[in-house]
Amino acid sequence: MAATGLFGGTFDPVHFGHLRLATELAEAFHLEKVIFIPAGLPYHRGRDAHATSEERLTMLKLATARDARFDVDDRELRRGGNSYTYDTLAEIRAERGPGEPLVFLIGTDSFATIDTWHRWTELFDLAHFAVAVRGDDQNWLAKGPGIFPREAWPRLTLNPRDLQAAPAGKVMTFAMTPLAISSTAMRALAAEAGSLRYLTPDPVVEFIRSRNLYAPARDLREAANPATSR
Ligand code: ATP
Repeated sequence: MAATGLFGGTFDPVHFGHLRLATELAEAFHLEKVIFIPAGLPYHRGRDAHATSEERLTMLKLATARDARFDVDDRELRRGGNSYTYDTLAEIRAERGPGEPLVFLIGTDSFATIDTWHRWTELFDLAHFAVAVRGDDQNWLAKGPGIFPREAWPRLTLNPRDLQAAPAGKVMTFAMTPLAISSTAMRALAAEAGSLRYLTPDPVVEFIRSRNLYAPARDLREAANPATSR
C-alpha cells in the first residue's frame, strides 16, 4: 500500500532544508504524498520576532504550491494553542484506517529529544519515523544514533522496505544532502536586513520582505512612530 509522509514543524519560516528533506525522504521511502503540518503556538518562543500562524501557513503554501506531491494540513493551527503530535497522528490514523503506512519525517536534532514528547512511546503505534541527518547537527556528527533515546534503538532498521511492509513502528535514518539552513538563523538574518534569497523559494523571500517579518520589535516601533526614531 502506498505510504504517506507527514512532516510536522514550526516552519517559521519554511526553508530549502525542509523542502529538500521532504523530497529526498519521499523518494527514498516511495511516499505518494508528503503532508506538511505546521505546529500550533511554538512553546519554545525565543527572544527574536516570530511570524503568526497565518503567516507561517501562507509561507508553507507559497513554498509547496508547485509540487504536486506536497500538501499542507492546517489542523494544528485550527486547534489553537500547543498541539500534541500524538493527537494529530491519532486523528490521521483514524481517518486513514489501520493498514496505510504513515511515515513521520523528522530531523536528527528533533528525534534526539522525542522522549520529551507527549505519549512518545505510543507514537510508534501510529507511524514510522524517517529521520534525516541534519547537516548542522554537531551532536549527531559526534555520537550518531547514540543521541536517540535508548528505547527507540530496537526500532531502528537499515531497510527502507520495512517502512512499506507495516503501517507503523520502525525508525530509519537517512543521510540527506547536508543543508545547514535553520529558521533561527534566517530570522536573525532578516532582523539585520540581510538577504534570504536562495535559502527558501523566492515567493517566500518576497512575502517576508513585503510583511517586514522578523524585524526586531524596536524597528517596528520606529516604523509606527517615526517621530521618536533617532
Ligand atoms: P528553528 O531554527 O526555529 O528551530 P528549524 O529550521 O529547525 O527551526 P523546524 O520547523 O523546527 O525548523 O523543523 C521541522 C523539522 O525539520 C525538524 O524535524 C527539523 O529537525 C527538520 N529540519 C529543519 N531544518 C533542517 C535542515 N536544514 N536539514 C535537515 N532537517 C531539518
